Amino acid sequence: MIAEGLRQLGLSKASRVLVHASLRSFGRVDGGAEAVCRALVDVCGTVMVSAGAWDLTGLPAPPGLTRPDNACHQAQTWQEFDDALAKATVYSKDLPVDSWLGTIAETMRQNFPHERGDHPLFTYLAVGPDARPLVDAGRLDWPLGPIEELGELGGDVVLLGVGHTSSTAIHLAEQRLGRSRFYRYAKKAPGVWMELPNIPGESHRFGEIEGLLAPVTTEVRIGRCRARRLSVSDVLSTTERLVAADPRALLCEDPECRCGAAYQQRLANLRGGGHGV
Ligand SMILES: [Zn+2]
Repeated sequence: MIAEGLRQLGLSKASRVLVHASLRSFGRVDGGAEAVCRALVDVCGTVMVSAGAWDLTGLPAPPGLTRPDNACHQAQTWQEFDDALAKATVYSKDLPVDSWLGTIAETMRQNFPHERGDHPLFTYLAVGPDARPLVDAGRLDWPLGPIEELGELGGDVVLLGVGHTSSTAIHLAEQRLGRSRFYRYAKKAPGVWMELPNIPGESHRFGEIEGLLAPVTTEVRIGRCRARRLSVSDVLSTTERLVAADPRALLCEDPECRCGAAYQQRLANLRGGGHGV
């Protein structure tokens, strides 16, 4: 039934997809997450999912290291930072996927032959013939490269029971305009930390793009799951138009939120002094 629903969405062996999925959204699934993964792999050509391990590898910013408009949790003392560094894990491709990303990605990692990137915080895992080039497009200084590559290959975003707040392609579009490009920190080796640029920020207002994307979205129901497909290129072009017209688009005004820092990054970019790719 899941495979049939995916075919009704227009997916086939010619499809390359970035999937954001909520297992719970389907209701009860015989075979659970593995059945959902199996349907995706059987129907599509190449399936990619977010597969970072931030919960294990991430660190606070070191004390005193304050980048402009970076909105990062910072250690107050070197003791606090060194304790966090000692507790963190060095990234490797066999670490479990961050539990915050849901069970589908971790199930894919455990049960399907895959390629996985080497970015310690924000990486991707892909299954299928184009897995290698997609994953390889992610660099330490450009973690959303796999989505860029997926767009160039004519790929799609598939939302299974989740909204646009889960859609990382929207972050790529705003990053191309200098917005939502944060520096974050991870363990590199025992006693060694690294700074990683161009980490995306806040997405809690991304649902506001729904109306603009509706005309280019295909939608079906799979059980209780609202399943949607739209091309990466449509997501990128629509978001870029929106953010180019309004630097505040898809951001909130809460001063405690990273949205404000992302907005300031865009303004700096417009002044010509901001981050460049
Ligand atoms: Zn916000």
